[in-house]
Amino acid sequence: MQQYAILTYHQIEMAPPPPAAFRSLYVAPDSFARQMRWLQALGYQGVSMRDLMPYLRGEKVGKVVGLTFDDGYCNNLQYALPVLQDCGFTATCYVMSQLLGKTNVWDIENGVKQADLMTAAQIRQWARAGMEIGAHTQTHCKLPQIPDADAVRQIQACKAELTDILGEPVDHFCYPYGFYETRHAAMAQDAGYHSATTTRRGKVLPDADLFQLHRIPVVRSTYLPQFLLKLLTGYENGKGV
Ligand SMILES: [Zn+2]
Repeated sequence: MQQYAILTYHQIEMAPPPPAAFRSLYVAPDSFARQMRWLQALGYQGVSMRDLMPYLRGEKVGKVVGLTFDDGYCNNLQYALPVLQDCGFTATCYVMSQLLGKTNVWDIENGVKQADLMTAAQIRQWARAGMEIGAHTQTHCKLPQIPDADAVRQIQACKAELTDILGEPVDHFCYPYGFYETRHAAMAQDAGYHSATTTRRGKVLPDADLFQLHRIPVVRSTYLPQFLLKLLTGYENGKGV
């Protein structure tokens, strides 16, 4: 039975020193590079959501691992892109259409250090390098906490605005904070996306709902043996959110 891992990254950057908040969301550039080299050495192909879909739909079988980056940090472009290109991998970066060129303002209330998000020109650069841009709402909103009409707009307009900027379809969605209810999965499907990823942990099983895809977080403290366990075994399955 084929199961596929979709890895979740946020910032590819050295973590700020303690007691900085959410240090787990940083993966050091050299750790990221080492993880990609291991994938390659083990015969895996790192792929974007676009490239992963035929496998999730059962149309193809192979050693592929989905690579996703949430929020669209400039450090993804700076540190992850060269490594991905060097490995011949693709990856999806989920961005907010109304926060391009800004910072992770939604994190201010949690005391997270502000980091630059890619501009419109930079997401084009990411896409032209063979990578994919996915949608993460317009403003990194908490979908279950806003009226449904606003949630529909956040989901639909993000797709339209990013498609305009890129001049190519934006087909994959990711729920900010991993917050969603089943009605939001229906909204994503109705908006014309092909998939939506969550922060629920585990590999994607053959009967998975393509609009409630589980992923595997890679964080600052994910050292290589654990990275390989997450990838090669059922270690993450059933770990909850
Ligand atoms: Zn996010």
